[in-house]
Amino acid sequence: MTFKPPNLEDIEAYVREKSLTVDPEFFYNFFEAGDWHDSNGKKVKSWKQKLWTWHRANLRRGDTHKCYCGGIGVYIAGKDDTGQAIWRCIDHKPKQRPIVTKEQAGRILKMVPAGDNRSTSDKVNTQRKLLKEKSL
Ligand SMILES: [Zn+2]
Repeated sequence: MTFKPPNLEDIEAYVREKSLTVDPEFFYNFFEAGDWHDSNGKKVKSWKQKLWTWHRANLRRGDTHKCYCGGIGVYIAGKDDTGQAIWRCIDHKPKQRPIVTKEQAGRILKMVPAGDNRSTSDKVNTQRKLLKEKSL
């Protein structure tokens, strides 16, 4: 049987089904980058088995974290005031921040008419909406 690399959705589904403590995205990126070879340079035969190995390593390290919902936290969603990582489960996977460069943000803000005293994020949202409509 030839190895068929999983996609991120496959990994997420399996992690969810088995309540594993592995960050699916990290796992996926790690093995994609290594063309599905493990850290010993061996070809991965079973990605599910690898997930279990990673899961056990997490448990051994005591590396299990909780989402606010009580679910197993696998994603780091930032840090709290004390510098502790904030964890999220798969169901509460943190949204990726929109990638807007400083220049783009500046340009967007300049388009807002003077005298507009709404909050900055409101202005940006309005401008984004306008830009979207223009580009349609
Ligand atoms: Zn959760």
